[in-house]
Amino acid sequence: MLDVNSFQTDIKIDSPGRINLIGEHIDYNGGLVLPAAIDKKITFKFRKNHSNTCEILSSNFKSSFKINLNEISRSKTEWQNYILGVIYHINVLKPGLIKGFDCIIESNLPLGSGISSSAALECGVAKGLNELFDIGLTDLEMIKLSRDAEHTFVGTKCGIMDQFAVVKGKENSLILLDCETLEYKLIPADFSPYTVLLLNTNVSHSLASSEYNVRRDECNTALAAIQKKYPKYRSLAEIEPEVVQEFKQILPEKVFNRALYVSEEHRRTLKAAKCLDQNDLKGFGDCLYGSHNGLQHMYEVSCKELDFLVDFSKDLEYVIGSRMMGGGFGGCTINLVLTDKVEAFIENATAAYQEKFDLDLSPIKVKISNGVSKIESNAK
Ligand code: ADP
Ligand code: MG
Repeated sequence: MLDVNSFQTDIKIDSPGRINLIGEHIDYNGGLVLPAAIDKKITFKFRKNHSNTCEILSSNFKSSFKINLNEISRSKTEWQNYILGVIYHINVLKPGLIKGFDCIIESNLPLGSGISSSAALECGVAKGLNELFDIGLTDLEMIKLSRDAEHTFVGTKCGIMDQFAVVKGKENSLILLDCETLEYKLIPADFSPYTVLLLNTNVSHSLASSEYNVRRDECNTALAAIQKKYPKYRSLAEIEPEVVQEFKQILPEKVFNRALYVSEEHRRTLKAAKCLDQNDLKGFGDCLYGSHNGLQHMYEVSCKELDFLVDFSKDLEYVIGSRMMGGGFGGCTINLVLTDKVEAFIENATAAYQEKFDLDLSPIKVKISNGVSKIESNAK
């Protein structure tokens, strides 16, 4: 196994996790999302090894693997596929430029908690190899090939938001991203006198990955049915709620609910961005509650632990918005809390959560930070 202490680093990369203020399950439906990169991250140390093999160590898993560059294929070990997928897709785009390398991964991102450790992993590998071997990939190429790696090697049909936020994140800025056109606008992340706080439920229900792909299929079914009558629509997010309503008797109830949620959440994201622009933080917070309500009842990707925390916050006047964040079925809630009351909120929510579920709650304080970047280089 690679020796962490004697490792001679050529290039060091920081790859952040991300939050998403609003626009949940919207990226693969072609609508608006509002993510940002955060100060919790995966750090990668890369070095060339002048051979035809690669060795990669995950310090968190205390596990490593070695591969021959001529034989890149899917592994039975899930975490290796995020890395193998990125190598594979770089080779498709720029054949033959990746040579032998070693890599050590260290992370302070919780896994499977909706903070996108997966995209941090993919984009960190893409950025590191791009720098180490001067491959010349653009940001957009790194974003797309990282997403493709997750589709083809891991099997999660994720949208583009996570990789986009991890690569394009900017300190103190939110990214208002149109996932259909990939046009985006940076908007100031100024919530004062409130603070963004995540609460990790520390549950990750096994439904998460299977139901994710089921939701995609349901959305595709809805879009195809609506396009039959209205071929002008390119994405589900674009379809107005009134138009979706016309299909209430035609679509199966669940499929109808998914479509209406998507249509409304896309518009809610636009409204939330306007609220921020006008410094209407209470209005912004209401949008977060609206988003959770839709995810709980119409999109059905929440769970009792997340619902409990969101409901709990509603009784506290110092929390103005709360919702589940990420794919769902566990992971974190994202909360807008009066800065002076953050500690009180953590204390109260932790005690209530412990009493209800006999589980620990993990608060995560986040700073909005830059996207994936090279932080050190000895490479010639
Ligand atoms: P999320 O992206 O919300 O954290 P995912 O299920 O999409 O959750 O991705 C988590 C997976 O990413 C882990 O199960 C693991 O396979 C991989 N992963 C993330 N961080 C690391 C790490 N530090 N070392 C190895 N694998 C990791
Ligand atoms: Mg993920």
